[in-house]
Amino acid sequence: MNYDPNLKANPVILQSEELYDYILETNVYPREPAPLKELREASASHPRAFFGTNPDAGQLMAMLLKLVNAKKTIEIGVFTGYSLLLTALNIPKDGQIIAIDIDREAYNIGEPIIKKSGVSKKINFIESPALPILDKLLEEKTNLGTFDFAFVDADKNNYANYHERLMKLVKVGGLLLYDNTLWGGAVAKPEDQVPENKRRLRKHTIDFNAAVTADDRVELCHVPCGDGLIICRRLC
Ligand code: SAM
Ligand code: CA
Repeated sequence: MNYDPNLKANPVILQSEELYDYILETNVYPREPAPLKELREASASHPRAFFGTNPDAGQLMAMLLKLVNAKKTIEIGVFTGYSLLLTALNIPKDGQIIAIDIDREAYNIGEPIIKKSGVSKKINFIESPALPILDKLLEEKTNLGTFDFAFVDADKNNYANYHERLMKLVKVGGLLLYDNTLWGGAVAKPEDQVPENKRRLRKHTIDFNAAVTADDRVELCHVPCGDGLIICRRLC
């Protein structure tokens, strides 16, 4: 067999936008459930449409939810509801999601589509900063270790605070997912090559990624899909 001597030991496989588009067009969009497509399209004119979970990361989330038979979940950072709807579509009829966001207005865009999809009764949307809600849940002992799945996609500077609390709420064997852990590639760039408005959260993201990697209470996997997704499985 001939080997290309120019091939690096660790080639970066997603070398181009075309390759990413190939994945979207070939594998992701053809399988995207119609209500999710509708919600994504309804969110497209929002000035922060880029907030929406990348559909390829969503596809992975959907599979993980099924693999762990998630029934009780929590989401921090809802925006118009793409990840929330996909969670609701992938948990059983009697599943429950606590979904927290400070912005009710953005959720108003996705809510009618969620209602139409018949999954609203699984969702408890709470308009609030997430930390006090998590603290309230922790006060109630019957909540400890009862969540199967948590998705964190909100203020990056609080990821470490969310992690400490979610480690008590999610059961052993349950999953904790953290989104945007590659921060548009900024985590691997020198600080002076990153636009000033991205520097503060770049540092928080780098610190969080290192801290969670050092946390031996979880098994983890950093997946380069979407804008980076760290998947943790609670071990103890
Ligand atoms: N997961 C969403 C989706 O699939 O469309 C995207 C979430 S968006 C990237 C981040 C959201 O976090 C925003 O809607 C914002 O209002 C919310 N957020 C920011 N700080 C927050 C906080 N302290 N508590 C709760 N939500 C917060
Ligand atoms: Ca995100």
